[in-house]
Formats: sequence, C-alpha cells, structure tokens
Amino acid sequence: MSKLQSEQSFTHEHRREYRIFQALDMAGTGSVSRAVLARTLASAGLRRQDHRLTQVFAELEPLDGPPLSLEAFADLISSAALLVERAVRGNLVIPDFSEFESAITAIFEAVSSNQDGRQADYIPPLAEVDPEGFGVSLVTVDGQRLDLGQADTDFSIQSTCKPFNYCFALEELGEETVHQHIGREPSGRGFNAYVLQADNRPHNPMINAGAIMCASLIKQDLPTFKRVRHVSESWRALTGGSTPRFDAYMAMEEDRTGDRNRALAYMMKNEGAFPGGEDFEDANLRAALELYFKTCSLELTASEMAMAAATLANGGVNPSTGERALKRETVRSCLSLMYSCGMYDFSGEFAFSIGVPAKSGVGGAVILVVPGLFGLCTWSPRLDAVGNSVRGVDFATRMVREYALHVFDGVAGTRERIDPRIPYARWRASQTAEALWAASTGDLRTLRRLEVEGFDLNQGDYDGRTALHLASAEGHTGVVQYLLNEGVNPTVLDRWGGTALGDAIQGSHHDIEELLRGAGAQDSGSPHPIVATVDAYPAESIDVDAVDAVALLWAAAEDDLGGIVRLVANGVPVAATDYDGRTALHLAAAEGHERVVDYLLAHGAQPGARDRWGSTPSEDAQNAGHSSISAKLAQ
Ligand code: GLU
Repeated sequence: MSKLQSEQSFTHEHRREYRIFQALDMAGTGSVSRAVLARTLASAGLRRQDHRLTQVFAELEPLDGPPLSLEAFADLISSAALLVERAVRGNLVIPDFSEFESAITAIFEAVSSNQDGRQADYIPPLAEVDPEGFGVSLVTVDGQRLDLGQADTDFSIQSTCKPFNYCFALEELGEETVHQHIGREPSGRGFNAYVLQADNRPHNPMINAGAIMCASLIKQDLPTFKRVRHVSESWRALTGGSTPRFDAYMAMEEDRTGDRNRALAYMMKNEGAFPGGEDFEDANLRAALELYFKTCSLELTASEMAMAAATLANGGVNPSTGERALKRETVRSCLSLMYSCGMYDFSGEFAFSIGVPAKSGVGGAVILVVPGLFGLCTWSPRLDAVGNSVRGVDFATRMVREYALHVFDGVAGTRERIDPRIPYARWRASQTAEALWAASTGDLRTLRRLEVEGFDLNQGDYDGRTALHLASAEGHTGVVQYLLNEGVNPTVLDRWGGTALGDAIQGSHHDIEELLRGAGAQDSGSPHPIVATVDAYPAESIDVDAVDAVALLWAAAEDDLGGIVRLVANGVPVAATDYDGRTALHLAAAEGHERVVDYLLAHGAQPGARDRWGSTPSEDAQNAGHSSISAKLAQ
C-alpha cells in the first residue's frame, strides 16, 4: 500500500484527528512523538491534575516510549479528543498560553519585590503569618492553569468568603428573598461601618453587615455546625473536589475580637432587618455571627481559590470537572456586586481603573474574575491602608496595563494592550496583513479605516515591505497619492534595500514614479534583480485566508515553530503566499531558522517557490549568508 493510499484510509476513519496528527508529526515520518504531544498540551496550559485529561496523561507515559501512529494517536486522545484538538490548534480561550504565562510570570517577579504595607495584626493567627508569602494562581474558562510562588499554601480566606456565601444564599433562597434583606448599593463607607440603608437593609453582601445578614439566611433551620458544614461542602463543586480547611484558632479569635460585628448584628436586629423582623431570636443572631466568623476562618490555597474564581468566570460551571456549581443568574448577581463593592473603600477606583469584578480579604487574598476568560487569585499578606493586599492590587494594576482585560477595553480598541484571547500570530499579522493586502489591491477604503483605527501606515512586514511599496508595485496611483498625503516616508527601505520608487519603475508605473519623485524619493538602483520570469505569480490557486497566510509568514520569520504548528493544525497550507509571492519557506530561509525550514519541508513546502522577483528560498538563504540552509534547499 502506498503512503498516499494509507493516508486516505486513515483520513476516512480519523478525519478529525488527521490534521492535528500531521501538524504534530514534526519530521514528517508518519508518527507523533509522545513527548511532543505532552509538551504541546503543557504549553497550552493543560495540566496533569485536569480531571478531563487524567486518562490521556496516563496513557502518554512513558514519554520516551514508541512514537504514535495515527491510529495509536487517535486512540490515546479519544477520552478527550476535542479538548486535545483545541489545544493543538490554539483554539483554547488563551491561544498562546506559554507567551501569556511568561508575561504573567514577569509581572509576578516584578511584584515580588514590593514590600509595602502591613499585614493584619488585630488577632495573633493573622499577625503570625509570614508577611513575605506570595502566591498567584490563574485558571481559564477552558481549564488552562498557571501557578506561581506559594500557590499551594493555605491562607485565611476572610472576606473572600463573602461573595461565595452570597452565592450559596442565592442558590438556596433566590434573589428576591435574599434581597429583601440585603441591598445592592456601594455603601460609600468603611466595610464595618455602623450604617444601613434608609430602608434598614445593609447596603450589600460584600461588607460586614451584609455578610452577617447573608449568614443568617443560609440553612436557617439547621444547627450551626451543619450550616458550617453545608458552606464547606458547597465549596467542593467550586474548587473541583476539595473543601476548605477550618482554622479553629482563627474562628475563636474572630469571635473574641468581634464586638464590632456583634454591634452591627444588634443594630440590624434592632431595626427589624433580619428574617422575621422583630421576632428574630437572639439565638439566631448568635448563630449567624458564628457562621460568619467560621466562614471567614476557612482556609484555601490560591490555586483552589483561582478555580472557584474561574467557575464564576465560566458562568458557574467548573472548568475542570465540567460540573455546574452555581446557576448563571447567581453568578451574574455576584459579579455585579463584586464589581461595585468588592475592594473595600477602593471599590470605585478599582472598578474604574482595573475594571474587573474582584474581592479581597484581610488575610491577603484578592480574587479577580475576568468574565468569559479566567479567574485569578493572588495571596500576599501585606495590606494597604484600606485593607487590600498591596501586591494583589499591584499585580492587577500591572496586568491590566499590559492586557486588555478591563470590561470596557472593548470600546477603546486594543492596539496598545494585548488581547490574550486573540492568537498572537494572528494579532501580529492582522496589523500589517490587512493594510498591505489592501494597498496591493487598491482598496483605499480599508486603508482609511485602518488609519482611523490607529494603524501606522509606515509599518512594514517581515520583509520591511510597506503599503507604499505594494501600492507602487501594483500600480494603484490613488493609494500612493493617499499615502503620500498622509505623510508616509517615501524612501523607506525593504529587506533588500528596495524603495517604493524601485517597485514603480520595475512595474513601469510612470505616473507613480512621478508622484514619488515629487515627494522626494530617490532611485536606489535595482536591489531586486529579476531572477526569473514567474508564470504563476500571484499564486491565486492557494485558497487561504489572507491574514492566516501573513500569520504563517510572520511565524516563520520569527522562529515561532509553535505558532506554525497551530496554523498548520488549523489547515493553513504551508505553501501559502503573501502579496509579494513570498512563502513561509522564504522567510525561514532568509532569517536562518533551520528547525522551521525542516518542519516546513517535512510538511510539503516547495523549495522551488518563486516570489515577485523570481527568488527561491534557497537564494534568500544564500543572500543572507545561511549557507547550510541554502545548500539543503538547493538539493
Ligand atoms: N473577619 C474580619 C472581620 O469581620 C473580616 C475582615 C475582612 O477580611 O474584611 O472583621
């Protein structure tokens, strides 16, 4: 049976798996190495502990075991085939997870040196915590995870219990009942201020009065120890299996120093704010306080808390177990109030400048929820003057400076900040691809739009080619005129030292020549000798999305093999060409990226492909002095 026939029969039976299989078949040997698959999953942010991948990771062992045939590969991934497929194709919610991981790690390291603030010391068990402790954990709605520093150290959850207790009350009693007793307004006062709304309800469930009220509502008919157990058990679905630890010493100390909370409770009782109004019994009040103190004294790790936050980000479904932990409406209500009231007296400022629902606690935890994207928990005990973890706020501030995560970033456009939801290769490509393709086809309208959106019309691609080069090469006088009017540099050089004027001369576009000379352009000679007459240019026969093609070429130019594998797994043909007839192989050869050259050759790239000037990849390698690549390609 020939190789082709066997591929066809494979393709029939394992149609879905075939594409990712062949993208991962790095050397084109008809097999995939176990280590390559393991590495691909890891760099997509999928971890061994992931409930969905237990079997896949177990079957991958040993990683130096025999390579996988298509059948073995399809069989191995069968328990989680769609998840694996999405990971390989870069279709998880953060497609370039390893780049994201590096950026977040750099933020973590920068924040580690911040020693400002003081940890809570109103009770010994908080005063005794190591102030240097620092852990960060992030879990995406697709279950990609990242743990940094002490992500597995238990900390006192304190006020970060409040949003969850509120959720548990909503699940049990519904919004209407819960909000008969609790408002949803920021109080504008300290978290434990003696203040109620005009209607005698506490302002919201994120401050102490509201949280004590919430505690009074949860499983009212059960004895207190069962109510604590109920809350603790309710955490299981949020964390994906574990329940919080209980620190009895902490709870005792909270009770011992809890007069202010008792005063808040009696104030509410006096106003008839509890269920049953005037008839609310003293024993019930004491039980509510006990439940409040005890739930503040639960302990979790940053990594467990991040999973709970990710469950909120995911609309109530735990990303790892796939189990629904909370109703959608519950999550919506909770996130709304975290957004407006979660960060003590900094809540308005936090919503304004960071722009994501969050909650902090005096134990040093901060949880952040980016809806539809990820949940995150930072833990570091030193607090600022209002009680928020200094490093937690610092971390969040730096993160939103770099990434478009603010809920309203969408309206402001995202050119200055990276949107982690967009594959980097595509984002990078979309910057230039649209403009250069538009210039090469005379599409003035698109160029105008891009300029309005903030695109720099001088920006060049991986070959230093700009809109002006392409418009000049293809004879689009109106576009050249427009670009010159907008003040683009008329003498900008491409990879070979070529100017737009050179392009116009080569294409015999005399009117453009005149325009460019009028703008001060000088003839730079003929840096692109015509090597051969190219019949097949432009290579229109290849059906590929314009941005995908440019993304592939960028990835090749930047030695981004992972990016190439993802594009190939998505069906982008390695022979794709850009507006100059350049291919990924040209770029990898010109830049001297040998492993990319090898990968492209193994996947059918054509060493004989010719660009606009008739040059082959081998000639590109030779011109750039990469002789071994040039020799390899000339064979
Ligand atoms: N147990 C603390 C109190 O109620 C909680 C403080 C907090 O984390 O905001 O005073």
